[in-house]
This record gives sequence, C-alpha cells and structure tokens, in this order.
Amino acid sequence: MEIGKLIVLTGPSGVGKGTLLRALRRRHPELYVSISVTTRTPREGEVNGKHYYFIDRKQFDNLVAAGDLLEWAEFAGNCYGTLKSQVESHINKGDWVILEIELEGARQIKQTFPEALRIFILPPTFDELEKRIRARGQDTEEAIFRRLERAKEEIAAAGEFDLQIVNDDLEGTLEHIEGALFVPVGC
Ligand code: ADP
Ligand code: 5GP
Repeated sequence: MEIGKLIVLTGPSGVGKGTLLRALRRRHPELYVSISVTTRTPREGEVNGKHYYFIDRKQFDNLVAAGDLLEWAEFAGNCYGTLKSQVESHINKGDWVILEIELEGARQIKQTFPEALRIFILPPTFDELEKRIRARGQDTEEAIFRRLERAKEEIAAAGEFDLQIVNDDLEGTLEHIEGALFVPVGC
C-alpha cells in the first residue's frame, strides 16, 4: 500500500495560512486539507463540513474521551481538533494531507507523527499581522486581542519547526512552500 505524507502548517492567526492553502489547493488539487472540528461559532460565510465541523463542547469532549482526535488544543477560548479517522484514511490511500493547526497541536503531531513535515509561517512584522487580522474584519476586538497575545507565544516557537517561511509576498511564499513539498527526485 502506498503511504501518503503529512504536512503541518502553523503560524499565528491572520498570517495568511488559509489564503495560502486555498491557493495551494487551486494549484495542486490532489492535496487534501483536513477539516477540523471546532467549538468556535462559524464566521460569516463559513460552511459546516467545508471550513470546519462546528460542534458543541460536549461533542468535543466526547471525541477527546473516545481518543478520536489525532491532536487537539484550546485556542483563544475555543477548542479545535483533527479527526484521526480522516487523516488516517487519506494517508493510507497515499494522499498528501495538510493540517492547518496552531502551535500546541503541531507539537503533539511531532510526538505522534515524527515524520510529518512541519512548516511555520511568519508575518513580515507584528504590525502587519495586526493589520491583516483587522483587514479580515471577522473578529471582535476581544478576539483580536487574544489572537495577538497568543501570536507572540507562537512566533517565539517558530524555531521548533522544520522550516520557517515569511509570508510577505504571497506568490513568493507559495513558491517556497511548493519547493519544500515537491522536492525534485534524482540528482
Ligand atoms: P490565517 O488563516 O492565518 O488566520 P488568513 O488567510 O485569513 O489568515 O489571512 C488574513 C488576512 O491577511 C486576509 O485578509 C488575507 O487576504 C491577508 N493576507 C494573506 N496573505 C497575505 C500577504 N502575503 N500579503 C498581504 N495580505 C495577506
Ligand atoms: P480560526 O478560529 O482563525 O479559524 O483558527 C484559530 C487557530 O486554530 C488557527 O491558528 C488555526 O490554525 C487553528 N486550528 C484550526 N484547526 C485546528 C485543529 O484541528 N487543531 C489545532 N490544534 N488547531 C487548529
């Protein structure tokens, strides 16, 4: 059986992970982006089963208790997790699976899936990160504050990752990620 590859994309909220992944998927539709479960309320335009599976805290706790999550973490007051069954079935089919997750979850993956390629996306500056979160226009002032506080901790841990990429110019960042994923075979 062909075994697929696991890729973890981490970086502070607002750095552009979702934007990068959407562009990557357009260019490489064979990549599978895992759909997480979360207790967060859907943002405008977010669709259940497409962006996330939106569940309540009791359902989340049941998944944790049953051992159904490959990793999970609390982030800015909500819980997020990766469904083990989803990742395993795609990896076993030979697919390349991408997890877009925060720092604590990425650390858990290092323990449970050491062969995963773990990439950390950095903002060009902290001010630019704040601008991007605000430009997205989907978070309350309190959520923005929490996300920026958490961003400081996350950025300090970037060195734990296999690769650090600054998301300045979008196209350049995409090419950098592609270079890491699609390493040419041969000499
Ligand atoms: P994340 O998924 O990391 O929380 P998003 O993908 O939602 O971040 O991006 C946050 C905001 O930053 C969006 O408005 C997006 O259009 C913008 N953005 C993403 N990448 C860049 C970039 N390279 N340059 C400028 N703006 C960007
Ligand atoms: P958002 O609320 O902006 O969609 O996501 C907040 C943070 O949760 C982001 O950093 C995102 O990468 C992270 N996240 C999304 N899904 C998961 C998951 O399944 N596990 C973990 N650990 N983090 C996740």
